[in-house]
Amino acid sequence: ALPQKLAVQLHVYGDGRLLLLSRDVTALAQAEAMRRDFVANVSHEIRTPLTVLTGFIETLQNLELDAAERERYLALMAGQAERMQTLVSDLLTLSRLEGSPTPGFNEWVDLPLLMHPVEDEARGLAQALSMQSGRPHELHFGPVPEVQLAGARSELRSAFSNLVGNALRYTPGGGRVDVEWSQLPDGRLEFSVTDTGPGIAAEHLPRLTERFYRVDQSRSRETGGTGLGLAIVKHVIQRHGGELRIASAIGKGSRFSLVFPTNRVRAEPERV
Ligand code: ADP
Repeated sequence: ALPQKLAVQLHVYGDGRLLLLSRDVTALAQAEAMRRDFVANVSHEIRTPLTVLTGFIETLQNLELDAAERERYLALMAGQAERMQTLVSDLLTLSRLEGSPTPGFNEWVDLPLLMHPVEDEARGLAQALSMQSGRPHELHFGPVPEVQLAGARSELRSAFSNLVGNALRYTPGGGRVDVEWSQLPDGRLEFSVTDTGPGIAAEHLPRLTERFYRVDQSRSRETGGTGLGLAIVKHVIQRHGGELRIASAIGKGSRFSLVFPTNRVRAEPERV
């Protein structure tokens, strides 16, 4: 492809000769533009809850409120503060992941043990969501193979939780979410989360793992999304030598899966 942006230098020598140097700086310019976009996005994401918080603080200062009203405002403020905490924690996770190509820690992780807290957390989230919508999800966890996975426990856990969390948050109450482990025909181990949610149009799929990319801004924020979850998942799975697969059909649902290479999986050693 032709360069879109060139840096050109002209040298004039004493004897009248000219030297023209040109360098393709397209990639550099793109990286700089992405950095600027990122800073703008982060600022925007932080400013929104801050503005809301400031507004509530002023209300509390200026209005005569009864105890119940004060409680209500304080609860709303706590929600906004929590949102900022989640955002900052996701940003830190992402910057750590982007800083190095290998897992932060490498050990053999027992899959059943790893999946316990993921399932507990998912059931908690499902319950919280059904209190809002009045309709519970049908949440199903399939059997977990008795194997170990080589990698960083906390990174793997966050990748699994993110995918299950998304399925629950984007699937309206009454829908179904299936979390399953299976072996592909080529022997690789696959973790999959299938939902009966709204689905995602094909044109969005290639961009889903970009930082702050959202198909539906308002739905994402409403359900506590930071827009960073899939970027984190992508980095985690890449560092573990695997791949993220996404299949989706509008009106039918989505399936997100993580495929792990065979050399990262081993049978659980015999316990004595
Ligand atoms: P967010 O915090 O907004 O959920 P993610 O990076 O986790 O950020 O996801 C990016 C976007 O992908 C979401 O905003 C949403 O539009 C879409 N998305 C992710 N998972 C699903 C799903 N299971 N069903 C429908 N849309 C989804």
